Amino acid sequence: MSYHIDTGLIKEKFNTDCECPLCEIKKVVEEQFLHEFLNDAVMEDNTRIKVGKNGFCARHFDMLFSRQNKLSVALQIGTRVEKLQHLFEPSANVRTAIKQAEAITKSSTTCVICDLVEDSMVKYYKTIAQMFQKERDFFKTLISSKGFCIHHYAELLKYSRHAGFVSKEYVKILGNTQKRNMERLQEELKKFCDKHDYRNALEPLGSAETALPRMREKLYGKKYD
Ligand SMILES: [Zn+2]
Ligand SMILES: [Zn+2]
Repeated sequence: MSYHIDTGLIKEKFNTDCECPLCEIKKVVEEQFLHEFLNDAVMEDNTRIKVGKNGFCARHFDMLFSRQNKLSVALQIGTRVEKLQHLFEPSANVRTAIKQAEAITKSSTTCVICDLVEDSMVKYYKTIAQMFQKERDFFKTLISSKGFCIHHYAELLKYSRHAGFVSKEYVKILGNTQKRNMERLQEELKKFCDKHDYRNALEPLGSAETALPRMREKLYGKKYD
């Protein structure tokens, strides 16, 4: 049995001090795809077909646009709009207009980069479970991490069967790690709140100072663009 994906990035990010190593991995994966879409991929027929079919979500459009190669973005958006043109033909009657409305609404929910990132992330969730089974010391890395954002925690649970005969142990360790770290952050948040009581004004805040933005990462994932 071989891994779904190279384990180097997993080890690196699990050893980084952060609230969710999977958010850190996702950032790297997303950057790689953005880079491809702004460079070589733009010339490939296969990619142009996918871009024509699914387009980009607003977030990925903005990310592409904020980088250097504007011509590349313009060419790809042109391909997408060409594919959408048929949706703007005037309808002959209300029945077809309503059908057209559904198709237009659906067309704004697809994104070629979101799909590629998601496909890659699934490989990471599976590989992490496999590493727990195959690499003797990986459980220590897992336990000493700060847990995950709740979205990525749920994804790890969803693919936990890939840990094979140690799946039960895997979900248990994942659960303990997540629970302990949610409590840790909750404590830091409490400390942050208590500090607003004048009687505690002189107490040192320490790590609690950043409790709120880190809680944001836990609840909604890391924010970046
Ligand atoms: Zn995350
Ligand atoms: Zn997207």
